Amino acid sequence: MGLEFIYTQPVKIFFGAGKFEDLGAILKELGLRRCVAVCDPFLRPVISDMAERSSAIVAVYSDIRPNPQLSGAAAVAALIREREADGVIGVGGGSTLDTAKFAAAIACKGGEALDYFRGSLVFPLDHVPVVTVPTTAGTGSEVTQVSVMSCGSEKKTINHPAFMPKAAIVDPLLTRSVPPRTTMNTGLDALAHALEGWWSRNHQPISDLMAVEAVRLVLENLEAAWRDGSDLEARTNMSLAALLGGLAFALPKTAGSHACSYPLSEDYGLPHGEACAFTLDSFVRINADARLETLCKRAGLSGTEELAERIAALKQLGGLRTRLAELGEVDLDKLAHDSAVHPLMKNNPVPMDEAALRRMFERLA
Ligand code: NAD
Repeated sequence: MGLEFIYTQPVKIFFGAGKFEDLGAILKELGLRRCVAVCDPFLRPVISDMAERSSAIVAVYSDIRPNPQLSGAAAVAALIREREADGVIGVGGGSTLDTAKFAAAIACKGGEALDYFRGSLVFPLDHVPVVTVPTTAGTGSEVTQVSVMSCGSEKKTINHPAFMPKAAIVDPLLTRSVPPRTTMNTGLDALAHALEGWWSRNHQPISDLMAVEAVRLVLENLEAAWRDGSDLEARTNMSLAALLGGLAFALPKTAGSHACSYPLSEDYGLPHGEACAFTLDSFVRINADARLETLCKRAGLSGTEELAERIAALKQLGGLRTRLAELGEVDLDKLAHDSAVHPLMKNNPVPMDEAALRRMFERLA
């Protein structure tokens, strides 16, 4: 059969250092006049200051923590209804953006957040428009129809058109304060998105182009951004890499290393990027035949072995955990089982059952 695909990308993207200062004008352009701002706690003073200057921000919610809980999204949805908001602005890392997206999706129809999370209530297509402003360079959540929420220790990726933002303001200046370890974690998350979008069973040509460029940008800029957070050129290139990484996986979806990241985060507390990176170089070797030589050539690498070694070197440089022995007492059977049954594992180009994953994790003992 000939080549066939459907490509869609409805988010209007404003990119550039200082773009966040244009927020008021951008909200006006989008026709949003009463917005709830959801922000990472460290940004509360900046957003409060902006709210004083812009009448379009009517309330600020900042009680967000990593691996965001459903209760936060429910509180934001209540605030949206109470203030009769016509828009939501999410300013922060993926945890903040995902909370904003989930809240905006459920605010119109109402109902319990938990019922949406469990699937007993269906997200309405009609949702409050969201403007995303990422302050980390990693998740790509600014352009995806994904929200990752947790209920207790259960963490779930939900993919639904209701989560698609209306616009994204990507301002690299906002990422300069990200500490080195988070810079490395999130940067490797962006790399994982690009690689997994490339080798996903659902990959397609336009997403592939984004993937190659994101891989090249991460490998050329992550170390510099990690060494010197104020390096605006490296930060700009990493913000672009994260954006392209988001676009690279938005339609194909992620695969093996993301599937394994869920038990690694839920049971051993690894931050999302570190959890994805934990198995990323293993999957580069496992998935080497998934056109990876082509990607490496286009991204300026000698081959898959160099790619795997560069990932391992970045992890070591950033002080990320790379062996199971560093995670405390590990239940290998459960880790292999939970990774194997995660829905994203179905997207991996090489079928990985529980036994194959056990062997992979044994090599990471
Ligand atoms: P995060 O949002 O959890 O933030 C990590 C830490 O960095 C927090 O302590 C936060 O306060 C801090 N921080 C954020 N920006 C900062 C800045 N500019 N300066 C200083 N500190 C800053 O981390 P993340 O990696 O951006 O997001 C991870 C979450 O996103 C996970 O829940 C993950 O599952 C999810 N995710 C979502 C998608 C999607 O498409 N929706 C994709 C990948 C990951």
